[in-house]
Amino acid sequence: MIQEPPWDVIRLHPIPTPTVFPVGPANVYFYPGPPAILFDAGTNTEEAFQALCDGLTRLGVNLADIENVVLTHHHLDHVGLVGRIKASSGARVFAHESVPAQLPFLFNARQIQQQIRKVLLELGAPVSNVDALVEERMKYHWLYEPPQIDEVVQDGSTIGPFEVHFRPGHSPTDTVFVHAGQRWAVTGDHLIHKVTPSPLLRRYDDNGQREKSLVQYYESLMRTRELSITGCFAGHGSPFTDHRHAVDTTLQHIQKRCARLLKLLSPQGLTPYEMTSHLFPRMADVMLYYCLSTTTGHLELLETQGLVFTERRDGVTRYFPVSPSA
Ligand SMILES: [Zn+2]
Repeated sequence: MIQEPPWDVIRLHPIPTPTVFPVGPANVYFYPGPPAILFDAGTNTEEAFQALCDGLTRLGVNLADIENVVLTHHHLDHVGLVGRIKASSGARVFAHESVPAQLPFLFNARQIQQQIRKVLLELGAPVSNVDALVEERMKYHWLYEPPQIDEVVQDGSTIGPFEVHFRPGHSPTDTVFVHAGQRWAVTGDHLIHKVTPSPLLRRYDDNGQREKSLVQYYESLMRTRELSITGCFAGHGSPFTDHRHAVDTTLQHIQKRCARLLKLLSPQGLTPYEMTSHLFPRMADVMLYYCLSTTTGHLELLETQGLVFTERRDGVTRYFPVSPSA
């Protein structure tokens, strides 16, 4: 039986803010406190700032009353207005320790160029349009104002009445905040009603290793499934109950894509680029990094499940199906 949360006693108020991204509006949430908290900070545009101020006004609150801003992850549709909120309120900004660690890489053009080139070579893709892909990644640089983080928090710590649960995957910084008394959660983009995020390929670390983003997301979802929570407030869309059903639906979507990829694999092996060309035959050139991320993420997940194996030839990774008799 689905346990309904007591919506009427939950004091968390969604304020949808417009974004410039295909995902549509992003939710900021106001928690009256104490302490008075804003979860996330919308996009750095005048329209989003206005929507935030209007939303607070409807709740009888001034921006100056905000004591804390708590960030669910470091993406532009969630951290954009931190500077303006701080300037009006002096609020302290909290985020998981991974957020300040990731921010310096967000729009580092030289680093992004090296990263994309290395990924394309590893996955067997042509490097001819690296510059166009870098340009695509830098497209929203104009929106970016590095948010000042005042306090970093770790997995398992608390902020006021909220438990901190680190759930990387959709991004390297996703964090879920659970109200310890009432057991509802602010889930950011980690768990969204009827949306299955497709994480981008991660950058290589100093040792040349790349975190497997979809594998990490899968593990994080399994951990969230174990949480005892009554309702979820996501970064986009409406609140929802039954987080286990939401997790299971997301996992099923991922498994379905995995099954489709497995069918496409030939015994001679294919590179992620070849698989991507099969899967997205009409893909626009600038979408290559995104599409490669989707394909490779699922291939990496299949590998951890023992259903495919890889071989590296001339620096290019090829995936092979594990034969049922092997
Ligand atoms: Zn988002």
